[in-house]
Amino acid sequence: VRDLGQRSETIRRANLSAIVRALHEDGPQSRSDLVARTGLTRSAIRALVGELTAGGLAVEGPAVLLGRPGRPSPEVCLVPEAVTAVAVFIAVDSLSAAVVGLGGAILAEARVERPRGHMEVGVIADDVVGLINGLPRRHLHADTLAGVGIAVAGVVRRADGVVETAPNLGWRAAPLGELLRHRLGWDVPVLVGNEADLGVLAEVRRGAAIGATDVIYVHGEVGVGSGIIANGRPLNGSAGYAGEIGHFPVVPDGAPCRCGSYGCLETEVGGETLLARAGMPRDLGVSGIDALFAAAAAGDPVVLDAIAITGERLGTGLAGFVNMLNPRLIVLGGLFGRLLPFAEARILQAMARRTLAAPLALVEVVASKLGEDAPLLGAAELALEAVIEDPASRLEERDDTPALATA
Ligand SMILES: [Zn+2]
Repeated sequence: VRDLGQRSETIRRANLSAIVRALHEDGPQSRSDLVARTGLTRSAIRALVGELTAGGLAVEGPAVLLGRPGRPSPEVCLVPEAVTAVAVFIAVDSLSAAVVGLGGAILAEARVERPRGHMEVGVIADDVVGLINGLPRRHLHADTLAGVGIAVAGVVRRADGVVETAPNLGWRAAPLGELLRHRLGWDVPVLVGNEADLGVLAEVRRGAAIGATDVIYVHGEVGVGSGIIANGRPLNGSAGYAGEIGHFPVVPDGAPCRCGSYGCLETEVGGETLLARAGMPRDLGVSGIDALFAAAAAGDPVVLDAIAITGERLGTGLAGFVNMLNPRLIVLGGLFGRLLPFAEARILQAMARRTLAAPLALVEVVASKLGEDAPLLGAAELALEAVIEDPASRLEERDDTPALATA
């Protein structure tokens, strides 16, 4: 009898997880939709949704969907404030932080431009803590916070949050996860991932690549990173270091790269090179890139020419990845998402010249829908996953704990 009880408890927890996952990934839906999506019976869905609403994780019905009374099949939606993640994106030229709720809603967000030259990991960790502390206190509660997810422009060892190398930040073996865990002093997991690996996750779940199973997300900033989904699964490599498209060698004896090599793709298409081609100082950061695109929109011929050349080089790089990986979709994020409207023809021409006909015929190039929020939303997924995997744990441990404070 005890075995039976344990078994039914295991099944209950798995079924609650299936429902929360469906609502988190696909948004509000009716009980009938949940029956179709999970394969559970109508009565099981009624009971489990009842548990979730009683526990405050979900709400249901016309009473909460204003102005739509009397619908025969009310929608079930997650309550974003019930389970939250703090998400952080450490780029070379900017830092951003957000509180993201279950279901993927951004509840609060802050972003700051970073001056060059203060790149030491301890300094950046302090800045991150400062940025998080500036988020509205009402969204930072110990009883709702599931964890902290960090997206960083570097090569990350997922297991312990060590950034093995981040050439454009000047980091080697930087214990970012441990540092932030210590400085925040919160009793929740702090998980670290590569910004493009997390960006592709967000674009597939809520952005430009919903439902796609073979996608390359290419994020451009000072450096260039990619996140790859192949056959519906992340392509991580043996230790999680895969996707470093920015350091793919494209020019023999090309310009030196911060990784120590020469002629890497990012020396041809990264933000500093783009600024230099447009006759602007290389180290202007976010405001320089903003000014460059403003000049492009105003029709500045020198800037448009710089964008066209950069688009051509980017298309050449992408051709190699299309030949190798046969994606259906390439999502351009960060700087490249802004470049696409100005350089689409050049990118596609360069790809067409260098890509085999069969994979070329299948691939589409689009701009990120989530923009700078993609790595943040992906980082939130890291932190929310444990709760989605076992939402029952959240139904059992609700008490009134005070707002979080950092040391
Ligand atoms: Zn390199």
